[in-house]
Amino acid sequence: MATIELDRLVKRYGQTTVVHGIDLSIQDGEFVVLVGPSGCGKSTTLRMIAGLEEISGGEIRIDGRVVNDLQPKDRNIAMVFQNYAIYPHMTVAENIAFGLYRSKLSKSEKRQRVEEVAATLGLSQLLERRPSALSGGQRQRVAIGRAMVRDPAAFLFDEPLSNLDAQLRTQMRIEIKRLHHRLGTTSVFVTHDQVEAMTMADRIVVMRDGRILQIGTPLELYEKP
Ligand code: ADP
Ligand code: ADP
Repeated sequence: MATIELDRLVKRYGQTTVVHGIDLSIQDGEFVVLVGPSGCGKSTTLRMIAGLEEISGGEIRIDGRVVNDLQPKDRNIAMVFQNYAIYPHMTVAENIAFGLYRSKLSKSEKRQRVEEVAATLGLSQLLERRPSALSGGQRQRVAIGRAMVRDPAAFLFDEPLSNLDAQLRTQMRIEIKRLHHRLGTTSVFVTHDQVEAMTMADRIVVMRDGRILQIGTPLELYEKP
């Protein structure tokens, strides 16, 4: 669990400013969705929180601690990507265990942790399979499993559902929300899909051109669009 605070956060690429001083305070356990058209700066913002992109100005605090200069691995947060980022040559168990490759747990502790995560995600029967023998939804769950296995303080989702067909997308929305209810892990979810934002968010942050246009619960934004 973690709070995430963005304080006048800026990103420039050369002369071009793509994030213009964003202020945002995310509560412990909150599920926040950043939504807006392609190119408005959602992914860049998420990647700055993860530490995958240097910031050009302002401050990011996780649990009150400034993380501007911390490596991604020292931020205790996990990213889930659109293209799964799972390895075809590894089994489901090895893919999930890969999330622990830096951890100091013993082999048997790792194995136990992988089993716990697999059970939570309904993957227990599939541990020895390779990704080619999984459905799209199962692959997506493996990617989430790899992020979950480290028990991160927060999840960052970068359009994780946009490659899935409509039916699976709806199913995975529900699964991710159910998981969030169960774990209560602070989550920041990026999408360009308004329906996804409306159905998943505790709070929606609408972005345009590198700025925050509106912030509110789905109901608040629905009532005054
Ligand atoms: P979104 O996630 O909302 O689609 P991005 O955060 O990916 O938007 O991109 C925001 C803006 O930053 C876009 O105009 C994009 O072209 C630009 N941008 C992203 N990455 C780079 C980069 N490495 N170099 C230059 N411009 C970039
Ligand atoms: P080893 O580390 O014994 O060479 P593998 O390369 O098969 O094992 O797997 C790497 C890691 O994946 C293991 O250390 C363990 O954490 C996890 N793992 C592999 N198979 C399973 C399984 N069936 N159940 C749970 N975890 C597993």
